Amino acid sequence: VRPWETRKVRTTCSYCGAGCQLYLHVKENRVVKVSGVDAAPNHGRLCVKGRFGYHFIGSPDRLTQPLIKENGSFREASWDEALGYVAQRLSAIRDSSGPDSIGVLTSARMSNEDNYIAQKFARSVLKTNNVDHCARLCHASTVAGLAASFGSGAMTNPIADLSKADVILVTGSNTTETHPVTSTYIKRAVRFGKAQLIVVDPRDIPLSRHAVLKMTQKPGTDVAWINGLMHVILKENLHDAQFIKTRTEGFDAFKKALEPYTPDAVSQITGIPADQIVAAARLYGTAGVGNIVYCMGITQHSTGTDNVKALANLAMLCGNLGIDGGGVNPLRGQNNVQGACDMGCLPNVYSGYQSVTDTAAAQKMEAAWNTTHLSEKMGLKATEMIPMALTGDIKALYIIGENPMVSDPDLNHVQKSLQNLDFFVVQDIFLSETARLADVVFPATCFAEKAGTFTNTERKVQRIRPAVPPPGEARDDWSITSALATRMGVPMEYADAEAVFDEISRVTPSYGGISYHRIDADGLVWPCPTDDHPGTPVLHIGKFTSGLGKFHAVEFIPPAETPDDDFPFTLTTGRLLYHYHTGTMTMKSDDLNERAPECRIEIADSDALRLGVVNGEMLSIRSRRGTIQARATLTPAIMPGTVFIPFHFAAAAANRLTHAALDPVCAIPELKVCAVALSPA
Ligand code: SF4
Repeated sequence: VRPWETRKVRTTCSYCGAGCQLYLHVKENRVVKVSGVDAAPNHGRLCVKGRFGYHFIGSPDRLTQPLIKENGSFREASWDEALGYVAQRLSAIRDSSGPDSIGVLTSARMSNEDNYIAQKFARSVLKTNNVDHCARLCHASTVAGLAASFGSGAMTNPIADLSKADVILVTGSNTTETHPVTSTYIKRAVRFGKAQLIVVDPRDIPLSRHAVLKMTQKPGTDVAWINGLMHVILKENLHDAQFIKTRTEGFDAFKKALEPYTPDAVSQITGIPADQIVAAARLYGTAGVGNIVYCMGITQHSTGTDNVKALANLAMLCGNLGIDGGGVNPLRGQNNVQGACDMGCLPNVYSGYQSVTDTAAAQKMEAAWNTTHLSEKMGLKATEMIPMALTGDIKALYIIGENPMVSDPDLNHVQKSLQNLDFFVVQDIFLSETARLADVVFPATCFAEKAGTFTNTERKVQRIRPAVPPPGEARDDWSITSALATRMGVPMEYADAEAVFDEISRVTPSYGGISYHRIDADGLVWPCPTDDHPGTPVLHIGKFTSGLGKFHAVEFIPPAETPDDDFPFTLTTGRLLYHYHTGTMTMKSDDLNERAPECRIEIADSDALRLGVVNGEMLSIRSRRGTIQARATLTPAIMPGTVFIPFHFAAAAANRLTHAALDPVCAIPELKVCAVALSPA
């Protein structure tokens, strides 16, 4: 194809975790259009972000050259100077303050190859397990909760299985806006299939229109309503006794713990009418095949792990695991959250969830990486590292592709922490709010400029392919990090991304049978341990990953902060159809900005009437941690007493208000509930 003609390159969407296959149409080295590929999982369908959100690729705001801060301002630097400077500073801090004084934060927007090299760098060069990524803010509780219940923290069934379900229970997921193509499977299963849909959410989300039963709950009351359903299922003998007897353990203690959760008691806690609890229990309990879909409305709580365990209990109680069409299906919010976890960008595991405290695993990695003395001490989580920057225990951070200055809870605290670092390196495609605080910024390529792989929400490893050249001197993340390792005296040289992936396959049992050659056409779903293995779309058939499934007795615990006289509203946060994460990519597209140009706060009509607030009025929203201003959108679709703010907008960042209360098991913050006050701006 000549440069002035259009060619198209197949790749994987860089937004949500659905992993839609798309063509980038390229003319004169610019992406000019995106279209869907007629292949799983999307079969030609794309949402508005995948279809129109490509302008960030050729944006003039892209970083093109390394930057070094001097006297408070950035100046351009050569790669040689910037890499040498960072290598010298990180080496000095590691040697003087110890390896665990440095942390590495990676991103679910990086490829598997990028993430694998980043954790290898932390472990083999810095000699610390202080490596984590943004799953700490979204699905850390899924990984902890499902792993404790089933032995694996991943989605159990593929997206297409939704068409085989009799009942689909969607909770804490505004699927239409956050996983739009996945929502089309749910809607089709209801309209053209046999599925009956139950939606449980504090808001009246678009999927509610398709539901046979919609339950509106107070934010942060998930364990109570889930326990209430199970109380009724047991009382009415709708449970799967054979499955419980042959495939699970811990049932008796779990059953006893459900006794207080009568429909009336649950109604008092959750605000859901008692008869709806009974109706939902009968629907799910009598379904031949029940499928549970959830997202961050379940996970982002100080009880996130308990919420996930409660859903796992519900599925086991009715025998809905290890079967086509069923399962417990946490939708990953970002394109490669699953992959970043799989690659070991977590403080407790190497790639493939091999524990850092397992001497055999450490020895295997030492041999593969040609190193010694890998730390067997559990590392710090992201939500621990940032506060420890303020206390001085963390002295340097290397953040790749993340923007905690918009995404993390209690931003005023985050800002003080990052400003207190001795040395701060950011690697990104734009000069984000976080990058502006850095001492050195490395310019990285985006998904349209590099080869690699993403692993979607259903554990499917798929290719990304370079379509356009990188801007200026931007380099692939794995290439920058491995060059830095080499500068720090640990040679890390790879011919290309495929060579990195080959190493991943060698050291990661669940990826052992996956290669670029095998996934070139349609991807493969892990576990895929050998070269002739077909992949595993449905987990836990016949046997759980852990052997027996484990019931957990889970008690309802209220959110860490509830409304009072000073802060009388409950704030819950989330996402919009038109924007993605902290907006660094989608806000470069006029098409998307026109549809969602600014942050709006959703407030119930009745609350607005009581307060004298009119639609479009600018409000000041205040919590114990900060204040923002946003225009009001009056709506009947939210529970009175609750307000909703999307977290995408840096100018009115919802996370100035949110609470950094952490789940005690996985340290996910309570981004979904805090108390706020409203007043005219
Ligand atoms: Fe991309 Fe998700 Fe939209 Fe598919 S549904 S096009 S993966 S953002």
